[in-house]
Amino acid sequence: MLPSPVVDADFGLSDEQRAVVASVRVFAAEKVAPAAARSEELHEFPRDLFLELGRMGLCGIPFDEAYGGGGLDDLTYLVVLEELARGSLPLAVTLSVHHLCGFGIAAFGSPAIRERYLPELFRGERLGAYALSEATSGSDAASLRTRAERDGEGWRLTGTKRFITHGGEADVYLIMARTGAAGPGGISAFVVDGDADGLSFGALERKMGWEASPMRELIFDGCYVPGEYLVGEEGRGFSVALSALEGGRLGIAACSVGLGAAALDAAVAFASSREQFGAPVASFEGIQFLLADMATRVEAARRLYREAARLRDAGGDASLAASMAKLFASDTAMRVATDAVQVHGGYGYMREYPVERYFREAKALQIVEGTNQIQRMLIGRGVTRA
Ligand SMILES: Cc1cc2nc3c(=O)[nH]c(=O)nc-3n(C[C@H](O)[C@H](O)[C@H](O)COP(=O)(O)OP(=O)(O)OC[C@H]3O[C@@H](n4cnc5c(N)ncnc54)[C@H](O)[C@@H]3O)c2cc1C
Repeated sequence: MLPSPVVDADFGLSDEQRAVVASVRVFAAEKVAPAAARSEELHEFPRDLFLELGRMGLCGIPFDEAYGGGGLDDLTYLVVLEELARGSLPLAVTLSVHHLCGFGIAAFGSPAIRERYLPELFRGERLGAYALSEATSGSDAASLRTRAERDGEGWRLTGTKRFITHGGEADVYLIMARTGAAGPGGISAFVVDGDADGLSFGALERKMGWEASPMRELIFDGCYVPGEYLVGEEGRGFSVALSALEGGRLGIAACSVGLGAAALDAAVAFASSREQFGAPVASFEGIQFLLADMATRVEAARRLYREAARLRDAGGDASLAASMAKLFASDTAMRVATDAVQVHGGYGYMREYPVERYFREAKALQIVEGTNQIQRMLIGRGVTRA
């Protein structure tokens, strides 16, 4: 990975944040990036790298030190995601999804389940997943149908979750299920162990990209969940899900910036070495303008997510800012990855270069954690107060 001057701008990070960025950048360049293409080809989840993230103290950065978290702010966590995504988007997404699960338990779980799950999640010894989507409820997540019925002191879950990242690979699942009437008020959140009786998994989904990030259906068939594994109050599960998603959208924004930066670096490197008409193609104005727009978009997206993170760290309402950052950064990743392929000409279409993978990986960023249509809907409602 070539360092590009724009990508290296620290944009007001503290000395501590800069030190974290520097160490993760080295890790991403030396260990993560070289393994990324192979993990994709083999559809292999890099559990070893995830464990290494845990050993580096990166699996619980913004969480309470009392449970083994890093006790640092969200901005630090997000710049780590950005750096990891420069090496491997699927690995950065893994950390982001793991964080969604940890956030739900840390913010809403009882002391008993925090004690039971958080230290191992934060050490990376257990992998977390977040299960909201179903075959018939995606954007309209509040219409989910998986049911949790009372059974003595606990609950029995029945239903199927679709498109679940880490499905079958995770050790801990944060699940949203219906415990009451239709609509968001009838939803509760639960934590379920990966090896719980009555939980099985569908076949590995084949995807356009993110093949190193395993995805399977979760099939609940009368799966018993003890009463204390309810996360938050009964009927408040949709709030748990949405609170986690606010941070999750910033996570996807940071991952998008990392991917955009990787695509920009690759395009600059290729354009500087590829010669046509007796000169490097980087010397042609048509290519320079493309690169200029790519660099400007990546930098603007970086500033948007970092300012949103600062607002969140200061205790402000960052929901609108998080939607804007997710929307702009993921659209940027798609645009920049597309242009990076263009800068490479025919080579950009070949597996030999990483930009065709970046192009495929960028697309999902516009879909996950609320599609970009849904982000526009939320922003539109926010600005019109409708
Ligand atoms: C790679 C990947 C990983 C994922 N990981 C997870 C995970 O770990 N956990 C999890 O719970 N889910 C996960 N998902 C699911 C993801 O959150 C959903 O795919 C997403 O929310 C969209 O839902 P849907 O696919 O059902 O599309 P739909 O909601 O059916 O949408 C279809 C189209 O209609 C548009 N649309 C829908 N409603 C509106 C509206 N009101 N106004 C305008 N346009 C609208 C959408 O934007 C989209 O273009 C993952 C998905 C992918 C692709």
